Amino acid sequence: MNSESFDIVVSGGGLVGKTAAIALAQAGWHVGICAPKTDWVDQRTTAFLWDTASFFETLGLWDILKTKAFPLKTMRIVDGTNRLFRAPQVDFSSSEIDLEAFGFNLKNSDILSAADEALAENHVTQIDGMLSEIIASDNGYELSVDQNGSPLKIKCGFLIGADGRDSTVRKTLFPGERKWSYPQQAFVVDFEHEHSTQFVSTEFHTETGPFTIVPHSHNRAGLVWLETPERVSEVISLDQAALEIVLEEKMQSFLGKISLASKPASFPIAGLIANTFGEGNAAIIGEAAHVFPPIGAQGFNLGARDIRDLVETLKRHTNTENRGQIYQRSRKADIETRTLGVDMLNRSLLSGFIPNQILRSGGLYALGKVAPVRKLAMKMGISPSFSLNS
Ligand SMILES: Cc1cc2nc3c(=O)[nH]c(=O)nc-3n(C[C@H](O)[C@H](O)[C@H](O)COP(=O)(O)OP(=O)(O)OC[C@H]3O[C@@H](n4cnc5c(N)ncnc54)[C@H](O)[C@@H]3O)c2cc1C
Repeated sequence: MNSESFDIVVSGGGLVGKTAAIALAQAGWHVGICAPKTDWVDQRTTAFLWDTASFFETLGLWDILKTKAFPLKTMRIVDGTNRLFRAPQVDFSSSEIDLEAFGFNLKNSDILSAADEALAENHVTQIDGMLSEIIASDNGYELSVDQNGSPLKIKCGFLIGADGRDSTVRKTLFPGERKWSYPQQAFVVDFEHEHSTQFVSTEFHTETGPFTIVPHSHNRAGLVWLETPERVSEVISLDQAALEIVLEEKMQSFLGKISLASKPASFPIAGLIANTFGEGNAAIIGEAAHVFPPIGAQGFNLGARDIRDLVETLKRHTNTENRGQIYQRSRKADIETRTLGVDMLNRSLLSGFIPNQILRSGGLYALGKVAPVRKLAMKMGISPSFSLNS
C-alpha cells in the first residue's frame, strides 16, 4: 500500500503545533499533523500579547477567542522580598503606549478547542500517534508514526517539530542544545476573589521566584508561583482551607478573601535552547526549540512568532533548498534574547548577592521613574518588532 504524502507534516499537537498546522493549511499546503490523542485537559491559561492576538486575527480565530479573553491593561511588579535593597512598586499601563491592553488572558482549553475546529475546517489531516522514525529522502522525509504499537508510514516535503521539550525531531535531526535547570517548580491554581483585579496582572517578586496573579475575569484569576520543589510539594498537599490562607497571606490580601476554583497542579521548570532551529527541509518551533520559566508571558508568544516567521519563509522561498536555514537565521536573535532575558530576570531574584540586588532594585527604580525607559521596556516586552515610534 502507498503511504500518504503531505507537503508539510507538523509533529506535536500542543498550542504551537496546532496553530502552525492551521496557518500552513491556510497558506495552501496539504498539511498533516501527527499528535497522540489525550484525555488530559490543560487547565492553564495563556496570556496572548498584542502581537499574538493580531496573528490569531489573521488566522480567523480571534473572533471566537476574543469573546473568551480577558484584557490585561496594567502589569504591576511588587518587590515582595525581605531584602536590604527593595524596589518600589512599578506599574506599566498599556495606555502609555497607546494600546487598549498589553494582551489577553485565555484558557488553554478554549484555545485548543477553537484550534481543533479550525484544523477540521482547513482540511488538515490529523494522525493519531507519536512520530517515531525520520528518514531523509530525496524530496523530504519518510516518517513512521507509532499508533499503539503499529507503525504508520507517511511522507512529507517539509517536516516541522512542534513536539515539545523532548522533541523527537530535534533529537533526530538537530542534535545539540544548551540545557540548564532551576531550583524551582511552577505551582499553578485558579481562584475566585472578593475585590476586582481592575484588569491588573500583579507579579510579586520573591526570593524564590515570581508569584504572578493573572486575571481571568473581574473576580477570578490564575496564580503561577515559582517556588522550590520542597515548598511546592508542601503546599500542594495542604487541604483547601489551609492553602487558601497561605496564598492570601502571600498576596498580602490585596484581592480580599480568596477561594480555590481549580485543583492545584505543578509543572517542571527548565531552560533549553537548541543549537539549530532549522536546516534543509526541516525546522523546530515552540518548546521543541526553546524552553524557559513562565515569566512575563513570553513562551507561547515566542512560539507564535516562530510560526509566523516559518510560514513567511516557506511562502517566500518555495524553490529554495535550504529553507530551514533561512528560518534559522530569521529566528536566532529573537529566541536568544528572550531566553536570556527571562533567565536573567529569574536568576536576579534568586541571587542573594548584594550587588545583584542593588542592580535589580535600581533597574526597577529606573523603570518606575524614567518614562522613556519604561515605554521601551513595555514595547520590547510585547514584541521585538515594536519600534520606538510605533
Ligand atoms: C504554568 C505555565 C504558565 C504559562 N503561561 C504562559 C503565558 O501566559 N503566556 C505564554 O506565552 N506562555 C506561557 N507558558 C508557556 C507555554 O505554555 C509554552 O510555551 C507552550 O505551551 C509550548 O507549547 P508547545 O506546543 O511548543 O509544546 P507542548 O505544549 O509541550 O506540546 C508538545 C506536544 O507534542 C507532543 N509530542 C511529543 N513528542 C511527540 C512525538 N514524538 N510525536 C508527536 N507528538 C509529540 C506532546 O504530546 C505535546 O502535545 C506557560 C507555561 C507554564 C508551564
